[in-house]
Amino acid sequence: MFQDSQDMRTNLSELGEFGLIDHLTKGFEPKLSSTVKAIGDDAAVLNFENKYTVVTTDLLVEGVHFDLAYMPLKHLGYKAVMVNASDVYAMNAKATQITVSIAASNRFPVEALEELYSGIELAAKLYNIDVVGGDTTSSTSGLLISITALGIADKEDIVYRSGAKPNDLLVVTGDLGAAYMGLQILEREKEVFKANPNAQPDLDPYTYLIERQLKPEARKDIAPLLKELGVKPTSMIDISDGLSSEIIHLCKNSQVGANLYEEKIPLDPAVISVCEEFDIDSTTIALSGGEDYELLFTISQEDYDKIKANPNLTVIGHMAEEKEGMHLITRANQKLPLIARGWNSMEDKNEKSDKKE
Ligand code: ADP
Ligand code: MG
Repeated sequence: MFQDSQDMRTNLSELGEFGLIDHLTKGFEPKLSSTVKAIGDDAAVLNFENKYTVVTTDLLVEGVHFDLAYMPLKHLGYKAVMVNASDVYAMNAKATQITVSIAASNRFPVEALEELYSGIELAAKLYNIDVVGGDTTSSTSGLLISITALGIADKEDIVYRSGAKPNDLLVVTGDLGAAYMGLQILEREKEVFKANPNAQPDLDPYTYLIERQLKPEARKDIAPLLKELGVKPTSMIDISDGLSSEIIHLCKNSQVGANLYEEKIPLDPAVISVCEEFDIDSTTIALSGGEDYELLFTISQEDYDKIKANPNLTVIGHMAEEKEGMHLITRANQKLPLIARGWNSMEDKNEKSDKKE
């Protein structure tokens, strides 16, 4: 993960709004041919020729969506870009431009915003996205970041949440639950640190989990992969809230039911072992822990042979008639109704018994 930097403190007022904007955005040179005019005028000018454009926006609020006690600002900047790019990729589109708006209280020196922007800059560079504008203002309490992302796709390539058909296969990328368990580790360490600021935690066994929480990667690779395999998903969504609530979104939007097989859910070994350590059920975590930023999609059964050998893709179930409802088939072959317990409700659940049975 990223290194922390210096302890310098330059007050925001020393630069003023325009000085600050110039300072933060000086490294943002547009690279894409679709960016005609980026930062520096009243609006950016883009040219997508005959492509369809997708637009999405997200607002991140300190204390609600992130906690700076364990979220370094550079990671926050990186993650804020990923959250938005992931929504673009979930349309089977390519992310091209973002605008970044921030509101910061005077608790944040210029150097803190530089850190935030270094994460934004790195993400933009790695994902081939131009930063083409934004807005900068002060806040009376805390930090807010709003990013708007644009992307393009050929008209026939766009995939909605609404196209799944009964018997389509349900497919997920990567593995699930790691970001949520990474957060549990970070919260536990925060409490340990509060009690004893000299404690040196050994976080090595949790590297993958913490990285999935602090530095998630959006699935830029999936749209081109599916194109190469000759597969167009019938519906798609990104996993920001947890598998069960995303399956429910696909089902509701497509007016179908679904059967999800517990034994098929892809889990990293680190998730399994840390769930044992915390005495929580790993299936519950995969179903309800959020922020994995993987993609969930459906394909026609005929396309199964094209995807079956790919290690990035796991078939976890299939769609059904709407009247059959939405179910989890457990390892013990029990059929349980799938319920949406987004990540907001996770806190209460952890305090109670956390077994799904
Ligand atoms: P306006 O008064 O028209 O809102 P601003 O002075 O706020 O213009 O912004 C000047 C330029 O800098 C615009 O191109 C705007 O999009 C860009 N910009 C402002 N704040 C940010 C930011 N936080 N990140 C990136 N670009 C920004
Ligand atoms: Mg402005």
